[in-house]
Amino acid sequence: MSAREWLDKDFYAELGVSSDASADEIKRAYRKLARENHPDANPGNSRAENKFKAVSEAYGVLSDPEKRKQYDEARKLFASGGGQGGFGGFGSPGGAGGGAGAGGFDLGDLFGGAQGGSTGGFGDLFGGLFGNRRGGGGGAASANRPRRGADVETEVRIDFAESVHGATVPLRLSSPATCTTCHGAGARPGTRPRACPTCSAEGVVTRNQGAFAFSEPCPDCRGRGTVIDDPCRECRGEGVSTRTRTLTVRIPEGVSDGQRIRLAGQGEPGRNGAGSGDLYVVVHVNPHEVFGRSGDDLTITVPVTYPELALGTTLTVPTLDGKVTLKVQPGTASGRTLRVRGKGIGKKSGGNGDMLVTLEVAVPSKLDGKAVEALRAYERETAEHDPRSELNKLLGR
Ligand SMILES: [Zn+2]
Ligand SMILES: [Zn+2]
Repeated sequence: MSAREWLDKDFYAELGVSSDASADEIKRAYRKLARENHPDANPGNSRAENKFKAVSEAYGVLSDPEKRKQYDEARKLFASGGGQGGFGGFGSPGGAGGGAGAGGFDLGDLFGGAQGGSTGGFGDLFGGLFGNRRGGGGGAASANRPRRGADVETEVRIDFAESVHGATVPLRLSSPATCTTCHGAGARPGTRPRACPTCSAEGVVTRNQGAFAFSEPCPDCRGRGTVIDDPCRECRGEGVSTRTRTLTVRIPEGVSDGQRIRLAGQGEPGRNGAGSGDLYVVVHVNPHEVFGRSGDDLTITVPVTYPELALGTTLTVPTLDGKVTLKVQPGTASGRTLRVRGKGIGKKSGGNGDMLVTLEVAVPSKLDGKAVEALRAYERETAEHDPRSELNKLLGR
């Protein structure tokens, strides 16, 4: 990425953050946009794919403190000049002009009138921005510095039973990666980028203006230091392309909805020998039709009849992998929850949670004559039992 390309792009706008956004805000914005525009989530949608590439590129610059600083400085410097006409030429070096005067980026013309004293300030400014590339090759050194790959986040959706027992799911991932065709060089295989003759591969050129020396990005290589005559077709000379890979992810038993699983070293590849980033998989669990979950406990609501609660019974209740028999004592209240030990969800610490069985009276919506008669007789027999006596006592009535 050269200084000139940076000026054409507003990485902050691309990520929808302000230019003073914190590293954390930038990371969050990137993750959200990358997820929304992920090729896996938008098959065949080229707009999403372009957006995905654009946010990846923006994040590549803004997530690197060194690059972000350079980007900010370059923008500050050139954005303020954009409206003054002179800098417009900088955007179209074209190559035809060649040499130092290319595209009309001429500091002498712009600032020549200010010889009085402030010109020196501009010299310092440029020196600070681009000079470090020359002084000890700082720019090239940082480009070759080993850098750990970025962390990647993706999502997976599994069924309730899979979350309880654990599952192995295939995961298709698309991420920006070093172009495999040109191995990141940007040049068509068989050709090589050559050192830029204009700047002797420095990426900057120095021009003398009276007593002052100015450094500016090389107009011929756009600050790269190299010239690609024959760009790689796969990545159009960028050295980065979208790679799709399939991973098998082992989801541990007992995973809960929204949990993040970290796969060390499965993120983006590192640069120059540094380690890869990590892959985070956010697990979404489809709710079960019958079972629920409360921590490590499995929950279920079982409909029962009034006689079953009043007289007691033995119930057969389904579990995730079979069934259990449950004794209901005579006189059990509706809504009561019974605990079946060890029939819940596997715990991280070993062992299992419990199954919580809630009993709920099911009232028939329609009864025939005989049943009505029997209930009337029951009502008469239990007339002295007032279910609301306790309530009325509490209310003082
Ligand atoms: Zn390539
Ligand atoms: Zn050059």
